[in-house]
Amino acid sequence: MLRAAWVLLLATATSVEAGAQSRPNILFIFTDDHAPHAIGAYGGPLKTLDPTPSIDRLAAQGMRFQNSFCTNSICGPSRAVILTGKHSHRNGFMMNGNRFDGDQQTFPKLLRKVGYQTAMLGKWHLSSDPQGFDHWEVLPGQGDYYNPALVSAKGKRQVEGYCTDIVTDLAVEWLDNRDKSKPFMLMCQHKAPHRTWMPPLRHLALYDDVTVPEPATLFDDWKDNASPARSQEMEIDRHMHLVFDLFLDAPEGFDPDKERGSDRSGFRNLRKMTPTQRQAWDAAYATKNAAFRRLNLKGKELVRWKYQRYLKNYLRCVRGVDDSVARLMAYLDANDLAQNTIVVYSSDQGFYLGDHGWYDKRWMYEESLAMPLIVRWPGVTRPGSVNTELVQNLDYAETFLDVAGARVPDDMQGHSLVPLLRGDESKPPWRDAIYYHYYGFPAVHRVARHYGIRTHRYKLMHFYQLDEWEFYDLEKDPDELTNLYGDPAHRDLVANLAVKLGELRAGYGDDSDVSPKPLEWRRKMRDR
Ligand code: CA
Repeated sequence: MLRAAWVLLLATATSVEAGAQSRPNILFIFTDDHAPHAIGAYGGPLKTLDPTPSIDRLAAQGMRFQNSFCTNSICGPSRAVILTGKHSHRNGFMMNGNRFDGDQQTFPKLLRKVGYQTAMLGKWHLSSDPQGFDHWEVLPGQGDYYNPALVSAKGKRQVEGYCTDIVTDLAVEWLDNRDKSKPFMLMCQHKAPHRTWMPPLRHLALYDDVTVPEPATLFDDWKDNASPARSQEMEIDRHMHLVFDLFLDAPEGFDPDKERGSDRSGFRNLRKMTPTQRQAWDAAYATKNAAFRRLNLKGKELVRWKYQRYLKNYLRCVRGVDDSVARLMAYLDANDLAQNTIVVYSSDQGFYLGDHGWYDKRWMYEESLAMPLIVRWPGVTRPGSVNTELVQNLDYAETFLDVAGARVPDDMQGHSLVPLLRGDESKPPWRDAIYYHYYGFPAVHRVARHYGIRTHRYKLMHFYQLDEWEFYDLEKDPDELTNLYGDPAHRDLVANLAVKLGELRAGYGDDSDVSPKPLEWRRKMRDR
């Protein structure tokens, strides 16, 4: 009671004494499925295509986190972790399809209490209505790329145009009309570059004249992995659909209802386009699609073609996001807001861009465990700096509260990144391992449940439904191709990591796994 009163006093004092000028604004730009290796500043083969000039500029002006990871590599859960600063088993949103308990403590609610004006625009994906915002307008569910519906406290409306541009319009409009006496926290959250990848019309020809570099693991056969890697359904080869995912013309006699489990959202969205939009879309793909049909590709050549179409559309969506970043940065500059606004760019998890032969996310393997995290904080973060500490989306809520001078509640499970952003050498030792737990099985893409630990160098994963393990030396084997679990030379190391993993589970209070019933689950994995 006493402490609550003290916090209230402090909050009141803070909101009275500190006006909009002294406390920084927070612009949190958040996308869906944007893997770090599709950002120029993160390097890698795709950098040669210059996918993100504006996000790269942001990195050059601020700090890029090199070892940034999620706790549970899937859309809804990542968002719930960010809002609460708590692992999935604590915030209750463990897998897509769950409903977020909006009554619980979240960082936007706490920011509002200390005098921030808050807004949430774009992709929300947590089923329940947003709480803790002065203003919100969100896409229902996954939302559409073209002419999307938007839901707010006032009801539902449909807006003509391209989703990324529309959400940026909403952000600019809100910034223009906000209460300028208060600092703001704006969450501008894009659907892009989520499947099924529909680029903006202006970028439909982007990359037409280039060949996207292939990842080294495009034809991985998962021979060393635990068995779930061989029973998943996220292969470019066998599971990526030529019509639904890659927008080839439907062949003669094509019946969408008879096609097996695939994301039809783009296929449906094409029918919602205006005649002008549809004309531009069809014109851009007609020649390319006709050329594909003439080639009559099979086997690896077909996979390579699908990879090119997939990556080009994905990167065209990314370029649409980059345009949004450019517009928002220009707005901050033009309105004298750049100096006192922290800009954060991140995405809910990483993504397989043909790595291991896959698309999608979910696994604790590097490509989907990683999240981009770039923070520009003028006068605080050193321009062009790179931080290599192990950070997670678990830390965002604490960071935003710390930035605002608000107290971080004891039940949050991450750490404020502010000492890292300040480049504070005297900060207490940072975490030396992260904890991960994915829950979505049975579910689409058939990735078995697993938890694990990652340190700077090693990774240990437990597919507990099957009681199978994987262990990698990331320094020697960054592509995670050689599973060293069971290798006698690493026995002690694995044993120590297993103990540490148990400690992390106990420390975070996670006893949420199902007890292993390997035979039963093994049967489910095989059932199709
Ligand atoms: Ca996602």
